[in-house]
Order: sequence, then structure tokens, then C-alpha cells
Amino acid sequence: MAAMPQELQALLDLMPDEDRVQRGGRTFWRGHVQGREVVAVLSGIGKVAAATTATLLIDAFGVSQLWFTGVAGGLGEDVRVGDVVVADALVQHDMDASPLFPRHELPGLGVSRLHPPAPLVARVADAVRETLSPQRLAPGGPLAHIHPETLGLRAPQVHTGLIASGDQFVNSADDVETLRRHLPGVLAVEMEGAAVAQVCEAFATPYAVVRTISDRADASAHLDFERFVRSVASPYSLAIVMALLRVQPD
Ligand code: SAH
Repeated sequence: MAAMPQELQALLDLMPDEDRVQRGGRTFWRGHVQGREVVAVLSGIGKVAAATTATLLIDAFGVSQLWFTGVAGGLGEDVRVGDVVVADALVQHDMDASPLFPRHELPGLGVSRLHPPAPLVARVADAVRETLSPQRLAPGGPLAHIHPETLGLRAPQVHTGLIASGDQFVNSADDVETLRRHLPGVLAVEMEGAAVAQVCEAFATPYAVVRTISDRADASAHLDFERFVRSVASPYSLAIVMALLRVQPD
């Protein structure tokens, strides 16, 4: 699953036998990649869009595992544009039913943070580190065409940690400060991951959320967003999905 069309296209190009199914206003592409059965879908932006799509993937299409790839704003001190964050915990930063429940707690679940399975997180982080290694991005390597350095970016560092999701595009220093205060150690902010996590938990479906950092969630967050997504985040997403398919046990 991805939120934005640019990110799905590169994957769909690899699904020549794709079979398109319309459901709930979404198009699901069912096909094969690297000999595995895959369903690819665009969720659209935001928690409800993501939750609806995740529910359909699991309940109507019977996926055994769900991967979300996309972009996010970097909140961690050393989380820079072009880095990748693999979630080991997700929280809905705009969930607040206080004083009935503590801030961020999911009413009825008794927790605020949801955790993808630890072995899957470790496998995903290793696969991302391996596939986006400096050697593979260097001239002569299989990802040499991406050129993150032309956008002034370093070779991607892969971080594992907390991702916060909410129905808000965060682009001010004040909002960043508030998020960091309420969620110490938070690495990135986006608009879908924790909703996908809640659905996957409900169905006991293993899931992973992998985000390439597109901005620092501050006042410059909208600049060059399109160019970054097209030239860096999309090819990273494709490389990540291919790597995850390779390391997926049978
Ligand atoms: N400029 C884009 C905006 C995309 S909205 C457009 O016009 O379409 C942001 C999307 O990227 C969401 O799917 C969200 O998950 C992710 N995202 C990236 N940076 C973000 C940030 N700073 N705050 C919240 N979501 C962010």
C-alpha cells in the first residue's frame, strides 16, 4: 500500500499480468512480482482512507502480510531528508479522548502505541539497509540512477523507532515542538501508518511501515516535495518492496 500514485506506478509496471478490481472506490491491482502473489493499492491520504484500504486488503483480498511504503516528515534529531524510518511502534498523535482516557490511548484497546512484530521489523530494517547501501547507490551500482546527491542528500541512513500519524500535514516548528514534547523519541510524522497498524492488529495480520523522509515537518516542508517523491522516494519504495519480497520466507 502507498498513499500517492507516483509511488505505486513503478511497482505496477512490474505487474504485467495485473488484474484490476474496484472496491470501495479504490483500485486493487492483483498480480505477481518476483513469483509472489501481490495486491497493490493506493490508500489515498489520511487515517480513514488508510484504514478502509487496509481492511479491504485483509478482509476482501486475504493478504497474509501488509506493507506500507511512503514518505514522512522527519522529527528525530538525526533523521534527515532522504533517510528511511522503519516503524517499530506507531501512535495516533491526534487521538485524545482525555479525560476519559489518557492522551493518545486507543479507547478500548488500553494502549497508545502499536508494535509491528519484532522479527518482521528486524528483517525489514536489514533488507532496507542492504538494498539502499552506499555501494548500490554509487556509480556502477544497481541504484546509481537515483542520485540522491543531486538533491543535496546523503546516502540514506536507516532508523528504527516510533512513527506518529494524524490527519494533519505538519509544517511548522511549533507543531514539531508539540509532537516532540508529547512523544519523546518520535522519529517521523505522517498521515496513515498508525491507522494501518490498528486495522492489522484487529485482524492479527503482520505489517510493516517504511517511510522515506521527504521533509523536516517545518515551514519548508512543501518545497520540492513533488521532485523529491518522483526522483528519490519512488525509486527507494520500489527497491524496498523488491528487497522485502526477496527476504520474505516462503
Ligand atoms: N504536497 C502533497 C501533500 C501530500 S500530504 C500533495 O499536494 O499531494 C502528505 C503525505 O505525505 C501523506 O500521505 C503523509 O503520510 C506524508 N507526509 C509527508 N510529510 C509529512 C508531514 N510533514 N506531515 C504529515 N504527513 C506527511
